[in-house]
Amino acid sequence: MTAQAVDQTILDIAREQVLDRGEALRYDQLVQVLQTDDEQLADLLVLAHDVRLKYNGPDVEVEGIVSLKTGGCPEDCHFCSQSGQFTSPVRSVWLNIPELVRAAKQTRETGATEFCIVAAVRGPDERLMTQMREGVKAIHAEVDIQVAASLGMLTQEQVDDLRDMGVHRYNHNLEAARSYFPQVVTTHSYEERWDTCLMIKESGMELCCGGLVGMGETLEQRAELAAQLGELEPHEVPLNFLNPRPGTPFGDLPLMAANDALRTIAAFRLALPRTILRYAGGRELTLGDLGTRDGLNGGINAVIVGNYLTTLGRDPKEDLALLADLKMPIKALNQTL
Ligand code: SF4
Repeated sequence: MTAQAVDQTILDIAREQVLDRGEALRYDQLVQVLQTDDEQLADLLVLAHDVRLKYNGPDVEVEGIVSLKTGGCPEDCHFCSQSGQFTSPVRSVWLNIPELVRAAKQTRETGATEFCIVAAVRGPDERLMTQMREGVKAIHAEVDIQVAASLGMLTQEQVDDLRDMGVHRYNHNLEAARSYFPQVVTTHSYEERWDTCLMIKESGMELCCGGLVGMGETLEQRAELAAQLGELEPHEVPLNFLNPRPGTPFGDLPLMAANDALRTIAAFRLALPRTILRYAGGRELTLGDLGTRDGLNGGINAVIVGNYLTTLGRDPKEDLALLADLKMPIKALNQTL
């Protein structure tokens, strides 16, 4: 069988299995998708887009994020400029409650339905949990928006506390495939991450769990990450492309090629037909404007507007104009409740 025949076969299989029957691709099938060549890319993206439309509709979920505590994290995730273990130039900063409410209001004004509070920590201490309690209450009193959080690894008590204070979605990424994780993080384990994710799912909060690609992993490990996320079935999967930050151990890695990034988006959609698949960090650098458009027509159905945690994103107006241009409506708040 020629390489082209193999490629054609996996697209045909994916069309019948995922699009027609709604069954996610398995690991070995995802490897084949990631091995398709550039000539197959347009067809692959059309298929991933059809899957997204069939199982999620045309709406795009918009989210804003704000950092409650930036930098100085004790962990050593090799892609992250917020680790206090590297020489990356990010200072530790705490945000106060009025600033937090102001950021939530600005986010709501963009049409976003989701406002995620992020802190660069291994897990929250009592001071951070108190700030969260006050912050979530103040936001709910003044702004009509869903509050999400990303505060690292949690105890069962903290999971229950966050749910009770009204946090409706919690982000905790797997970051990398199980087999590649030890090359990415040494200060905690993949299993610790997985356990926090399971506690979130069981609590009734929505789980937001994704990872990064372009960190030197193999295609097989990229497929493995997608399959492991498929097993976890998060409500949302943020997909990050490595933006190599100076001073971090991955600071000298090359940017991922745009076509590889697009193939990855399509593969993740075929692994997670019903999940919110969100563009997260690194997409401007990796994909540029044209590629960003291709991704939104290739499986992505959610974006983060405004600034990312440590690197500038782009003006929210540009993203909102792009969605209008693509005739993709922004998901309304009452659709997310
Ligand atoms: S990814 Fe999170 S846990 Fe890891 S170093 Fe960065 S802020 Fe800390």
